[in-house]
Amino acid sequence: MAPAICDNRRMFNFKKRLANVRRQLTTSHQPANLLVSNRTNIFYLTGFTGSAGYLLVTPDQTTLLTDGRYTTQVQQECPSLDVEIQRHGETLIALLCRVLKQAKISELAFEAPSVSKATFDELESKLPQVSLIASSGLIESLRRIKDPQEIAAIRRSIRVNERTFEVIRAQMTGDLTEREIGFNLEHQMRQFGASRCCFEPIVAAGANAALPHATPGATRIGDHPLLLIDWGADLDHYASDLTRVLATSDKISAKFRKVYDTVLAAQLAAIDAIRPGAIASDVDEAAREVIADAGFGKRFTHSLGHGIGLEVHEGPGLRASQKTELKAGMVVTVEPGIYLPNWGGVRIEDDILVTPDGCEVLSELPKQLDACIVCV
Ligand code: ZN
Ligand code: ZN
Repeated sequence: MAPAICDNRRMFNFKKRLANVRRQLTTSHQPANLLVSNRTNIFYLTGFTGSAGYLLVTPDQTTLLTDGRYTTQVQQECPSLDVEIQRHGETLIALLCRVLKQAKISELAFEAPSVSKATFDELESKLPQVSLIASSGLIESLRRIKDPQEIAAIRRSIRVNERTFEVIRAQMTGDLTEREIGFNLEHQMRQFGASRCCFEPIVAAGANAALPHATPGATRIGDHPLLLIDWGADLDHYASDLTRVLATSDKISAKFRKVYDTVLAAQLAAIDAIRPGAIASDVDEAAREVIADAGFGKRFTHSLGHGIGLEVHEGPGLRASQKTELKAGMVVTVEPGIYLPNWGGVRIEDDILVTPDGCEVLSELPKQLDACIVCV
């Protein structure tokens, strides 16, 4: 446990992230005190990986509140933080109330999406002197722009994800089931150092691939002409997310080729549109137009992509309703798809870094259809 804990501190600049939060609180005219309750945000700001706790950020103090299970862990993971541990018989909320009273805090922003109504009511009744201000997305908006250490971690996660796929592809035989391939993916990625899959891999043969989020089952892959695999690693806390479609024989139907090449052209058009200043919905539209022109407009049934980072799905989304301007340092997936019920589906997904003068495709697995044939 210990080496991984030290790695976090060496790898990530938590001090700078906390300074950014304080600056953001000031520029967005929010209270100077923020209660962080989202676990991913707590990790982002401190490196603390425990499952229970609050982080209180004030202009001159950062205090982590947690329970006795984490006394040693918190010293190792965040030795420079002030820490308050629940006393025997004290609840986490009671501890929070005690700390807020001691600090004489009168105005507190809280992360509304991760505070339940019950918790809010309890805080409000126990702290009549504190005005609680709902806040949303403040840290998430900072997390959208990755710093160099985060980009390096995402690159490592993608490399492991790609190497995993190469091994799985080389070992592929027709009698393997979707579920076995899903298991092999996870096993292999852990052998390469990932802590887990960052989502349940999607392994879908033939008609099952018409479901964008198919669950791997007992279908033998050799019985179907195509196999869709969507998989991602969690490495050093950062996610990767890729999709490839393999042809399981070199006899490729005209329909398969048309669908595949349309999706690939759509993906390349979208990647071409990614640069600082581009609007997320326009990038989505660039792919959608290619698919609509080929007559499959109604069969592209999901958004084009999403940000990746500490979470596999985070901002910014690449979709019609998202008017966000892309900025250098964002990392997004681009994953158009065409899904034809009772036939199958094709999705091609890569991870893209927005750079100061355009973008960089971080994933390098081949994606021309002729390079995606495995004769099982
Ligand atoms: Zn994916
Ligand atoms: Zn994705």
